[in-house]
Amino acid sequence: ATPTALMVGTGRGAQLGILIKGPEVLETTRRIDTIVLDKTGTVTTGAMTLTAVHLAEGEREDEVLRLAGALEHASEHPIARAIARAAEERTGALPAVTGFRALPGLGVRGTVDGHEVTVGRQEPSEPLPAGLTSAKAEAEARGSTVVTAVWDGRARAVLVVADAVKPTSADAVRLLRGLGLTPVLLTGDNEAVARAVAAEVGIDTADVIADVMPEDKVAVVARLQREGRSVAMVGDGINDAAALARADLGIAMGTGTDAAIEASDLTLVRGDLRVAADAIRLSRRTLGTIK
Ligand code: ADP
Ligand code: MG
Repeated sequence: ATPTALMVGTGRGAQLGILIKGPEVLETTRRIDTIVLDKTGTVTTGAMTLTAVHLAEGEREDEVLRLAGALEHASEHPIARAIARAAEERTGALPAVTGFRALPGLGVRGTVDGHEVTVGRQEPSEPLPAGLTSAKAEAEARGSTVVTAVWDGRARAVLVVADAVKPTSADAVRLLRGLGLTPVLLTGDNEAVARAVAAEVGIDTADVIADVMPEDKVAVVARLQREGRSVAMVGDGINDAAALARADLGIAMGTGTDAAIEASDLTLVRGDLRVAADAIRLSRRTLGTIK
């Protein structure tokens, strides 16, 4: 490709709402055959709300919200913001936390009101009472994310946070398929939630990769590359940055974190996944005319 044609391509990209790091990016874009989509904040809005609290026997909702909310108040995660906001609305000022720790891909931990509290993925060492197991399964089958509030070694409640699929995501998946790409859904969330979201946007169950720890997202991209695929990755979070950098083409949501944008080759300014298809079409057209 001539430098001039590539410059024209990047200029057209800007009009479409695509920021391209350098003209050479268009060359890579044309070869992509697989597009890995992060779930939360990429396929879904990432604007989570707390929709239900299911209590273990003898527990009180305001107490659960106070302790879980206090802990989540210190975290930036979309799940955390949903829980902290609901807790503040319903219980007022939240107590102080000491020894706060964020465990990426797992949850948060700290001491609140003298209790050792964790909120996050369920640990096998802290089994749920039967009623909570079924409430959790039902919520997950609907595509909601469920976290467990534990203190002093006992699971006290499960909190359901719902995150809507973006209205444009199903369209985007169809457009990407139309270009011959295989869409893959990648998430740290669990299999049940991931499958529900995949079904809603038209991604095959076989192409759902769930329960992936933040540091392992990059390994998933590398594995697909070893299988001979040319991989684009679309993400928004700090936890996606390494995978975005590793992918043949990293695509950040403009609505996402700076870390994701810096690690990427392309940024979709408005966070509209359909524009990823525009980017691929643009690169094929730009480079096709100048062969
Ligand atoms: P994704 O890949 O969908 O962006 P993450 O890797 O950020 O998700 O998180 C994966 C899982 O870790 C969440 O579904 C949740 O169970 C748990 N988790 C992470 N951070 C928190 C938090 N602040 N509070 C509760 N749970 C959390
Ligand atoms: Mg994300």
